[in-house]
Amino acid sequence: MSTYRIAIVGAGPAGYFAAQALQNSQTDNLNFAIDMIERLPTPWGLVRSGVAPDHPKIKTVAKVFEKIATTEGFRLFANVELGKDVTIDELEEMYDAVVIATGTSKGKKLGIPGEDLPGSLSAADFVPWYNAHPDHANVEVPLDCEAAVVIGAGNVAMDVARMLALEPKELDTTDTAEHALEKLHKSSIRKVHICGRRGPEHAAFTSPELRELPKLEHTDVHIDQHQIAEAIKRAEAEGELPKDLKSNLDAMQVIAESEKKGHERSMYFHFLATPLEIRGKDKVEEVVLAINQVQDGKVIPTNETFTIKCGLVVSAIGYEAVEIPGLPYEKGKIQNIDGKISGRGSYVVGWAKRGPSGVIGTNKSDSTEVMKLLVENLGTPKPPTDLEKKLAERGSIVVTQNQWEKINAHEVSKGEPQGKPRIKLVQRQEMLGIK
Ligand code: NAP
Repeated sequence: MSTYRIAIVGAGPAGYFAAQALQNSQTDNLNFAIDMIERLPTPWGLVRSGVAPDHPKIKTVAKVFEKIATTEGFRLFANVELGKDVTIDELEEMYDAVVIATGTSKGKKLGIPGEDLPGSLSAADFVPWYNAHPDHANVEVPLDCEAAVVIGAGNVAMDVARMLALEPKELDTTDTAEHALEKLHKSSIRKVHICGRRGPEHAAFTSPELRELPKLEHTDVHIDQHQIAEAIKRAEAEGELPKDLKSNLDAMQVIAESEKKGHERSMYFHFLATPLEIRGKDKVEEVVLAINQVQDGKVIPTNETFTIKCGLVVSAIGYEAVEIPGLPYEKGKIQNIDGKISGRGSYVVGWAKRGPSGVIGTNKSDSTEVMKLLVENLGTPKPPTDLEKKLAERGSIVVTQNQWEKINAHEVSKGEPQGKPRIKLVQRQEMLGIK
């Protein structure tokens, strides 16, 4: 029986699915001891700090993660930071293979004037703010304005827009960060504008997300019927509509045609609108956007612009990986061939491997493929050396699976009397104090 020791860095979906794939590939002769290393004192990655609080069903995948984590041979080392508590070179020396699953947590920049004004944020700061991520608790989110503009036509833009446009009471029974919930209750925002630079036929939203919009109980959602009709015409001129595109356009048409109830809160979709400039004296006051058109399948600007007055701009235009010293990067992700980082004993999975695309489930097939390659490349097992001992010598405070379960139980029990799935702890020290 050969036991191989694998370190997985990053306790998000891609990391857990990599661990699961290794566990599933065990045989009478092949065994894995898996150490999962996570920078935060809490695991689950985007399931904890990315998924919108009003989408609790998506978070039920955490049950799968906990099953993986409580399988024999798995250890959690949370509150351990790569590059600070331990280096990638050390891990490669100690383990038979290292799997990087650190995601892409940096927001892409628009690169337009005014982007750095107070009141202009990236979704990479705003989303973890409302999800109680310890590093984003103090993000300044001005909600004392009537209108907000969200840039991007993807599911993150949609999450951000919904969080801003929902009646906050609807969030009372969710795990929204307490600091965010308090601010959202006092928010003056009543209009949220989502701006996509291309047409409705090019939007990256997925149809389940679009289909829930007409069902919002306290928010009217507006899409220009003419823009959808034109998009359908253009898309049909290209041939038979692919299933997903048809489903998206149908869903947008339903929104466009839905009866508006006259709610105080509303969401407006603007397509073919590229942000040119964010203007304001000391803070965001308005966004200037170019009006585009589609010509021969290409999106090109017209000479016309329009302006939206607002006090908050959130750009949700994609993410890049935060670089780990020593690893090669290209276009915001780790350079790799099918998940193998060339010239090193490391592999990469998830968004750090392929960029920020796909839903949580996409990581399962992706991680499984990379772990197949890892297993094929295994040599002779290395003699065991213990990370636990190394970290103890360095004075690192490790949150083990057992301690995490205590933090988890604490959060869930705090939430129960208020009908919430949990109340998340925000400060690292509070988390570390749960014994
Ligand atoms: P995304 O789906 O790639 O969408 C990014 C959007 O930003 C696109 O509309 C893109 O337009 C636009 N964009 C990029 N650069 C821009 C610029 N300079 N100016 C204006 N617009 C720009 O990314 P995402 O929304 O961050 O989502 C990431 C992944 O997570 C996606 O696969 C998404 O489906 C998934 N996700 C899923 C859920 C869910 O299942 N509920 C929730 C959240 C996220 P172009 O197309 O023109 O480039």
